[in-house]
Amino acid sequence: MGAKRLKAIVARGSKPPAAIDKDRAKGQLVWFKEHYDRAKDRFHQLGSSSAVMALEASGILPTRNFRDGSFEHARAISGQTMRDTILVHRGTCYACAVACKREVEVKDLGVTPKYGGPEYETLAASGSLCGVSDLNALALINQLYAQYVLDSISTGAVIAFAMECYEHGIITKEMTGGIELTWGTADAVVQIVHLIGKREGIGRLLGEGVKRAAAELGSGAERFALHVKGQELPMHDPRGKKGLSLAYALSPTGADHMEAPHDPLYAGFHAQGHPMGVLGLIEPLDPLTLDAKKVRAFFETQKVWSSYNSIGMCDFVGTPLNGLELEPLVSYINAVTGWNMSLYELMKVGERNNTLARLFNSREGFTPDDDTLPPRMHEGIGNGPLKGQSIDRDEFLAARRTYYQMAGWDPETGQPTAAKLAELGLEDAVKS
Ligand code: SF4
Repeated sequence: MGAKRLKAIVARGSKPPAAIDKDRAKGQLVWFKEHYDRAKDRFHQLGSSSAVMALEASGILPTRNFRDGSFEHARAISGQTMRDTILVHRGTCYACAVACKREVEVKDLGVTPKYGGPEYETLAASGSLCGVSDLNALALINQLYAQYVLDSISTGAVIAFAMECYEHGIITKEMTGGIELTWGTADAVVQIVHLIGKREGIGRLLGEGVKRAAAELGSGAERFALHVKGQELPMHDPRGKKGLSLAYALSPTGADHMEAPHDPLYAGFHAQGHPMGVLGLIEPLDPLTLDAKKVRAFFETQKVWSSYNSIGMCDFVGTPLNGLELEPLVSYINAVTGWNMSLYELMKVGERNNTLARLFNSREGFTPDDDTLPPRMHEGIGNGPLKGQSIDRDEFLAARRTYYQMAGWDPETGQPTAAKLAELGLEDAVKS
């Protein structure tokens, strides 16, 4: 779009969209209602912020720029504390039964429910990753991100990067304009967010993200810049859920925690009616393994979430994170569209998405050298229950190679083979 100087495409209509088969579509919604219990759903009760205590317990709550996996003040920034202190309402996207959205209020700081409330990624990126334990300040920071239209993961991550650079004297007090950029200083985070939002002072450099900022800073700053393909690492540590290392390395858009479900969900696979059983995933897998079985689980479930992207389906509603299973989903798609799609075809939609994105990246010069992890992921976690746990470099490269082969990509060049393109009906994609 940029090359064509196209800013946007707008489609407008005057009639509300309607399902082709209304009764069948309604039947599927009733199915979900009967199979879904808000009272038992952590996404409704605590929102995505339920992940703070879950990941702390697992030893993989990203802390101090991923040096540590346990944050001593985790409870202070948790979904439970938010519920008990500043939460005033649970909001929802249009007509969603889950209603995972938080709405918080901190009158002293001018935080209003209008801007919702911090999601898990914000609590971790600006909280534990920066050593910050002040939940009210995090609510303010969340509001500032919305007002400046800043991504909360990348902004929190670049501030944590800057804090580590400050600790090592690569960024000085003179460069920050007098801000003491030390771990745990909530006010410093607030000030840096303003500078990034206004592109003033050091905010101009940090607003470029960790990759470019590290290149400009030099002096070894690269070792503190955690990114894949220039995208900052989200708030999930693959050293404690190793299948996620494939998601970070192989996502076409760089490190992405929403590329596929995470390993703890693979640990719950079973042969007695697990929703992923329809894809043949019935064997529980240890989060700390990175063998061919793990690659297969990632490969299959990546297609599921990719197909969700195509149909506009929220990952917090569909299986395996929540109760809407694949067969009822296919039935719903057919009721709405009038198609006669099968689950097989839906999975092919997901695979086609991933392959097309790979073709695009290959054309733009990306190679297997870009499908890597930041060096810190190959070093041990600094504290907590998984202290010392790391991703073995050779094991990771072997898993990546297995994935290439499973996906029908050349194991040396990483490019989709002619046979795979033919199988997906994408031959024309390489001719243009
Ligand atoms: S659609 Fe997804 S993000 Fe929106 S309220 Fe429902 S579960 Fe939450």
